[in-house]
Amino acid sequence: MKIALIGFGASGIGFLLKMKHSDHEIHIFEKAKDIFSTSVSGIRADGKIFISKEMGGDLDIDLEIQEKVVQYYLSKTSCPDNEIEKGDSFANKSLFNEFYKYGFQPVSSKFWHIGTDELKTVLKNIFDEFSTIPNYHFHFNSEVTDIDINDKFHVNTKEQSYKFDKVIIGVGRSGHKLIQKIIKKEPNIIMDNMQVDLGIRFELPNHIVETLNQEMYEFKLKLKTRTGYMARTFCNNPSGFVVTEEYEDFKTVNGHAKRFEKSDNTNFAILVTHQFTEPFNDPVSYGSYIAKLTNILAGKNKVILQTFGNFKESKRTKKLYRVNPTLNNNDYILGDLNLAFPRKTTESILDFIDTLDKVIPGIANPDNLMYGTEVKFYSNKLNNNIIPGLSTIGDCSGWTRSITYATAHGIILAEEILKST
Ligand SMILES: Cc1cc2nc3c(=O)[nH]c(=O)nc-3n(C[C@H](O)[C@H](O)[C@H](O)COP(=O)(O)OP(=O)(O)OC[C@H]3O[C@@H](n4cnc5c(N)ncnc54)[C@H](O)[C@@H]3O)c2cc1C
Repeated sequence: MKIALIGFGASGIGFLLKMKHSDHEIHIFEKAKDIFSTSVSGIRADGKIFISKEMGGDLDIDLEIQEKVVQYYLSKTSCPDNEIEKGDSFANKSLFNEFYKYGFQPVSSKFWHIGTDELKTVLKNIFDEFSTIPNYHFHFNSEVTDIDINDKFHVNTKEQSYKFDKVIIGVGRSGHKLIQKIIKKEPNIIMDNMQVDLGIRFELPNHIVETLNQEMYEFKLKLKTRTGYMARTFCNNPSGFVVTEEYEDFKTVNGHAKRFEKSDNTNFAILVTHQFTEPFNDPVSYGSYIAKLTNILAGKNKVILQTFGNFKESKRTKKLYRVNPTLNNNDYILGDLNLAFPRKTTESILDFIDTLDKVIPGIANPDNLMYGTEVKFYSNKLNNNIIPGLSTIGDCSGWTRSITYATAHGIILAEEILKST
């Protein structure tokens, strides 16, 4: 069978890994010019890989498969096992109990941190493995612009059109344009999407969270705040760096850490889940507007930086004190996030930080830093049974949000194809 795989990201890697010994002819279309230059995602930046039943996606993925995925990525690093940063969040029961006492829901998971720099080696080693397989044909610089689903299946790039028996789409969140085109042709593939997570990137000196960083590397916590909205920590980066994330017409914030270069600060996101109900059905626009508003206030192409103390008092930040931002100073202005955030978002963030301070004194220091906006969009959940022969895997399917789950999704789909052929 002739199969097109669109996107060479985490889910595509899982798919190719399982298909390695099959007879199927597989063509891989990737819009980037090579394995390194594509849009940012966890497989190209930071690379924290988790094993957890409680986060990472909405699929029920066996711990055994998750363990195999993690071991596969670790086997592609250049460093010995004992040099990989890792953690086991809330394996320490007294820490679990302490957070629980104050209303938090601690999320258990195991982590390994590869680092942005080391990911390049990992990707190169994976590509070297796949590019020697005679049935695998890589097409870089080949953005798929459309797929004809009536004429099974014409896959179109700007230059050429190819015909396939099966199409697997693993284009991640950066491939939303292609997904939108498929949805327009067959709206019934959408199952649901009513959520966006909005918030800030928090940055503080390492020593305040040293115990947590050493004990767990990443601490995942959820809290039902006084607004009734759920808030959570996301993507903790000990000795890390705050960065901006570029969308087509706005900029948000994010964070990452490297294996070798280290800063004096830890950063993590505090995200508030905004869950909408009918008739509103466009959470992506809602999140985008708020992110754009912070850019408008900050001046084109910049984000807002504010101290926690000023955020709490609704005052514009004019001066920083003890914490030095790791974000490049051309990328932010000192400002007031209260001019952009809805009250429910602000109140939820304040409640989260004040409650966290009860367990980790120093979290609510007035000179700790907040950058806005950080946004996590959720793709529409798609149904793979509506267009026979066409399947979505990974984040673009709406069912995964992590390297482990996306890779496992690719593996599971490949297993189904192998069973049925
Ligand atoms: C900044 C950032 C940091 C993250 N950090 C982590 C982390 O540390 N740990 C973690 O578990 N998760 C992390 N994530 C989430 C994680 O990266 C994703 O869940 C995972 O990579 C999803 O895999 P995927 O295959 O669905 O998409 P991706 O890995 O994004 O791959 C999609 C691929 O498709 C290509 N593509 C897109 N459109 C087209 C097209 N039309 N034609 C051809 N090719 C196309 C893209 O160039 C890309 O190579 C992070 C995400 C971001 C944005």
